[in-house]
Amino acid sequence: MEVIRSIRQMQEAASTVKRAGRRIALVPTMGALHEGHVALMRAARSKGAAVAVSIYVNPAQFAPQEDFKRYPRDLDADTAICKREGVDVVFAPTDEEMYATNASTWVEESLLSRRLEGERRPHLFGGVCTVVAKLFNICQPDIAVFGQKDYQQLCVVRRMVRDMNFPVEIHPVPTVREADGLALSSRNQYLTPMDRAQATVLFKALSVAQDLFNAGEINAHRLEAQMLRTVEFAPSARLDYAEIADAETLAPLHEVKRGDVALLAVYIGKTRLIDNLIL
Ligand code: AMP
Repeated sequence: MEVIRSIRQMQEAASTVKRAGRRIALVPTMGALHEGHVALMRAARSKGAAVAVSIYVNPAQFAPQEDFKRYPRDLDADTAICKREGVDVVFAPTDEEMYATNASTWVEESLLSRRLEGERRPHLFGGVCTVVAKLFNICQPDIAVFGQKDYQQLCVVRRMVRDMNFPVEIHPVPTVREADGLALSSRNQYLTPMDRAQATVLFKALSVAQDLFNAGEINAHRLEAQMLRTVEFAPSARLDYAEIADAETLAPLHEVKRGDVALLAVYIGKTRLIDNLIL
């Protein structure tokens, strides 16, 4: 397995793979790899393509007060996982390599990005779209694999690919969870043992919404209120938002139908976690 740190080298490696007639599947990550990322790598491999994993904590998607500096980084452990999973290339650029100091071109999706996460974190999706567009130009994937864990990101990236005509197939992968339902996330490392115990309220709240919907409740407001009530039950938890939205446009809903998505963001102590479930 090759670990490439320069854009030029990565572009050359990608061109060589393409000339040999092989497709490329890209798994974009910010590192601190866990079983959720591994599921993405395995999905990429199952496509029969050469697998590239990018590992890059993208400064453009963090606001100044957010956790960019303390975001967990461990390139050695990450590359060991990639090697074990049969990844062909790890692309791990430095900040200097990725962004010129006077970089002045940004990619923005202007509709789906505005709600939910984008409303609370206005930097997020401009940063995500910019770095994903750059990674597509650098790694030249035919397929890009994204987790449903970051559901809004998946929707925004799909929209960008459609609108900008990137010749890339987006392949979604279901959320990988701990036995108690907590979605795996690099940010779970921030949780104290007490926080960790309470972090199960995210999945509990989503499951309450799912159960009520299955029992016939289709009023979005009432389902959202029950999610709030479930979250409030945990003393360290504070709800940021709990919403049911259209699975493609993320538009808010009054009446819920099968296939709509419940999304929530919750502070557990100081750690902000997100999760979602397709109803
Ligand atoms: P991140 O490193 O957090 O930026 O995530 C990189 C990719 O892994 C994104 O497409 C995420 O949606 C995906 N991912 C993160 N956690 C999970 C999980 N628990 N299950 C499935 N995919 C995940």
